[in-house]
Amino acid sequence: MISVQEAIDIVLNQTTVSTPETVSVLEAGSYILAEDVYSDIAMPPFDKSTMDGYALRAEDVANAPAILEVVGVIPAGSFPVFEIRAGQAAKIMTGAPIPSGANAVQIVEKTEALENGKVRVLAQIAPRKNISPQSEILRVNEKVLPRGTYITPAVIGVLAAVGKDRVEICRRPRVAILVTGDELVEIDQKPQAGQIRNSNGYALYHQVRGCGALPEPLGIAPDQRNILSAGIEKGLKCDVLLISGGVSKGDLDFVEEVFAQLEVTAFFDAVNIKPGKPTVFGKKADALVFGLPGNPVSASTIFEVLVKPALRKMMGFAQYQNLRLTATAANDFDSKTRRENYTPAWTFIKDDKLYTELLSSRGSSDILAFAWSNSFAVIPGERQQIQRGDAVKVVLRDEFWVTNK
Ligand code: AMP
Ligand code: MG
Repeated sequence: MISVQEAIDIVLNQTTVSTPETVSVLEAGSYILAEDVYSDIAMPPFDKSTMDGYALRAEDVANAPAILEVVGVIPAGSFPVFEIRAGQAAKIMTGAPIPSGANAVQIVEKTEALENGKVRVLAQIAPRKNISPQSEILRVNEKVLPRGTYITPAVIGVLAAVGKDRVEICRRPRVAILVTGDELVEIDQKPQAGQIRNSNGYALYHQVRGCGALPEPLGIAPDQRNILSAGIEKGLKCDVLLISGGVSKGDLDFVEEVFAQLEVTAFFDAVNIKPGKPTVFGKKADALVFGLPGNPVSASTIFEVLVKPALRKMMGFAQYQNLRLTATAANDFDSKTRRENYTPAWTFIKDDKLYTELLSSRGSSDILAFAWSNSFAVIPGERQQIQRGDAVKVVLRDEFWVTNK
């Protein structure tokens, strides 16, 4: 049986960065840029006023107050064709081009408009003041964003400013989700004797989407080799196939057998982790295949630990893993396993310090304990007891960032 770290390394080794795809800039947020982006314009495109006021020659107001002749008005969006000569000024708005001859803008608050087409400038001003020179922010043909950039709202603003309405991002992997088990019924049905609802298909769907990848649900396959095989073959057309259930040692756990028939190369089928030990990982051509245990907490935990890093690598991220930090245990906890324990935890910030409450759970089917958690506390196999005040490793899921105020 391999360690959790060995499993992560194997998965990431088998994962390659996706080819680029072109999307609208409106769809590009939170993905990784797959091309270098150059500017087709200078910014600002001309010497620009950063204030409402009067464009003038600084030397004319060196002994302010001074009276100047107003020879024009320049709103933003217009382009002045006249020149400012000695003793002249033009009224100018923020964002408007500086007329030739002027070398400063005095703000309107430091002027008084006079009736006869003149203005009294009340204070002197240094040359270049309140003017943003052409190309100050960026030059024509300048590389403004390198490939590999994470696309934040601010980056979207840059893309929009340089006219990139379509951008190349690392392709979003298509992730097929196949759930298996004779006991499963869809969620709009009332389970009859011996049946349960398919909750994994829905939880996994949103985990995939939360990573920015594209989930493709394939429905429920019963525990029959031929139907399972057909479902898996269909799923192998996607970049990643997630199967839930059928990977344990029960009489009807056929997933590994069908993998072998379909010539899926299996890299491991047991990981020293709790929950999620019977996880299977394989590959056929370029498609990655994860056989996740059917217990809901196991499936979701293995998604966070093994599947999400692979999806993030495919999408070009430099950081694959959830953030791992050290927190102080807020309670005593008994690990009850010799495997590396990823136990549901509520991690929180108090007085600028990180604490974690290790949640009591009835095990890998306790979907409520898991739903109340925002992180995992990771307890090494050799450690059994956690005492309040102990340092504990925590893995922060996305939930942590929105549940901590
Ligand atoms: P298995 O891995 O197939 O042995 O399933 C382990 C446990 O998880 C069993 O109690 C199943 O009923 C349960 N289970 C399997 N698939 C799902 C599913 N899609 N949604 C909820 N529970 C499931
Ligand atoms: Mg089953």
